[in-house]
Amino acid sequence: MKLVVLKFGGTSVADVTQIKKIALKVRNEVNQGYKVIAVVSAMAGVTNNLIELAKTTTEIPYYSEYDVVLSTGEQVTSALLATVLNNLNIKARSWLGWQVPIISDKSHGNAVIEEIKTENILESLKKDQVAIISGFQGITKENRITTLGRGGSDTSAVAIAAAFSALRCDIYTDVDGVYTTDPRIVKSAKKLDLITYEEMLELASQGAKVLQTRSVALAMKYNVKLRVLSSFEDLPGTSIIQEEKNMEKTEISGIAHSLNEAKITLSGVPDQPGQAAEIFGALAKHSINVDMIVQSSSINYEATDITFTIPETNMTIAESTLKKIQKKIGFKKFIMDTKVVKISVVGNAMRTQSGIAKTMFETLANNQINIHVISTSEIKISVLISSDYYELAMRSLHSAFGLDV
Ligand code: ADP
Ligand code: ASP
Ligand code: MG
Repeated sequence: MKLVVLKFGGTSVADVTQIKKIALKVRNEVNQGYKVIAVVSAMAGVTNNLIELAKTTTEIPYYSEYDVVLSTGEQVTSALLATVLNNLNIKARSWLGWQVPIISDKSHGNAVIEEIKTENILESLKKDQVAIISGFQGITKENRITTLGRGGSDTSAVAIAAAFSALRCDIYTDVDGVYTTDPRIVKSAKKLDLITYEEMLELASQGAKVLQTRSVALAMKYNVKLRVLSSFEDLPGTSIIQEEKNMEKTEISGIAHSLNEAKITLSGVPDQPGQAAEIFGALAKHSINVDMIVQSSSINYEATDITFTIPETNMTIAESTLKKIQKKIGFKKFIMDTKVVKISVVGNAMRTQSGIAKTMFETLANNQINIHVISTSEIKISVLISSDYYELAMRSLHSAFGLDV
C-alpha cells in the first residue's frame, strides 16, 4: 500500500482557517495517489489550558482521569479536519486513540505505546477514506485512556508510520525544518537540509522541542523516513537520515536549551560507600530522571557535596523524597535552584575533533557566564548556567561554532 503519514502540530490546527489550509496538504497527497493517515495535535494552547483546569481539582497530576481531560484537545481537531476534508469531497473519518486502538502501558501522563492494531484503519483505508487519528492518546489493556507526554503527537505519528510501514512520516509544524538552534531565540539560526537520527535524538533530548525525543528514537529503531516541514509554506524541510558511512562531517550540528531543569545540591554528605546509591535510588523509586551529576572531592574523606539536575516539573516530589531521608543519609543542607538552563552543543564531529569543549567554555567565559555543572556524551557537551544568560549563551555559542547564516 502506498501510504504516507502526515502529522500536524498545535499551531497547524490552531483554528478552522488553519485546518482548511492543512486539509489542502492532505488533499494534495490523496490526489497524488497516496493513502493518507493524518495525525493531529490539539489546537495551540489547548493542552496547556486543560492541564491548568485539571490542576484545579488535584495536586497529583499523573492519574487516569487527568489523562481523560488532557486527551480531549486532540478529539476536537481530528473531527474538525475530517469534516473539512469531507466538505472538500475527500472521504475522511476521525479516529480516537482507543478506536484504532493504540495500546499503551499504564504510565499515565507519559504512557509508552505497546502495540498498534492495524485492522480497523486498514479496512477504512481500503475504502479510500483518509484516517484522521487523534495524536497523544493511548488506551491501556484495562480500557483506560492515557496520554503520551508533552509533544506526544510526534510519537503517535512515528509509531503509526512504523506500524503501517508508511513510505514516509511528515511532521508539519510552525517552522520550515530543523535549525541549528531554536530560530525563535537565535535569529541567525540556519535551516538544516539533513540531520542524522542520532544528532536529532541528542538535540531533542536536550530540549529542541521541534520533535519529541521518543519520536526520534522510534524513527531510528524502525527506520521510519522522517521529515520536518512547514504547515504554512511550501518549502523542502529537513530530512532525518541514517549516518552515511563516508559522511565525515566537520561541524557542530546544533545547539539546544532546556529551561525545564532544577539543580539540587546536598551539602555535607558523609563520605561513605553507598550514599549515592541511596540518594538516587530514592529518586528513581518516584521515576525522577536525574541528568547531570557532580560530586566534589572531600577533604579528609569526611563529607562531600553532591549536585545534580532533575526536570523542574519533579522538584516538589524530589524535595519531599530527599528531606525524608535526610536523617538517614546525614547530609547537612538541601539547596534547590530553578533559575538554571541547560545548554547543549551537539555534533557527530565530536567523535573525531578535539577542541570543541575548549571553544564552548572559552566562549562562555568571554561572556562572563559561570558554569555550574558540565556533562558530556560521545556527541554532546552540556553545561548548566544561570537562566539569566541563556539567550546570550546560545547566540554567542552559535556564532563561535560558525553556525550563523
Ligand atoms: P508543534 O505544535 O507543531 O508540535 P512545537 O512547538 O512542538 O510544534 O515545535 C516547534 C517549535 O520548536 C518551533 O516553533 C521552535 O521554536 C522550536 N524549536 C526548538 N529548537 C528548534 C530547532 N533546532 N529547529 C527548529 N525548531 C526548534
Ligand atoms: N497536545 C499535546 C501537547 O501539547 C501533544 C502534542 O501537541 O504533540 O503536548
Ligand atoms: Mg510538538
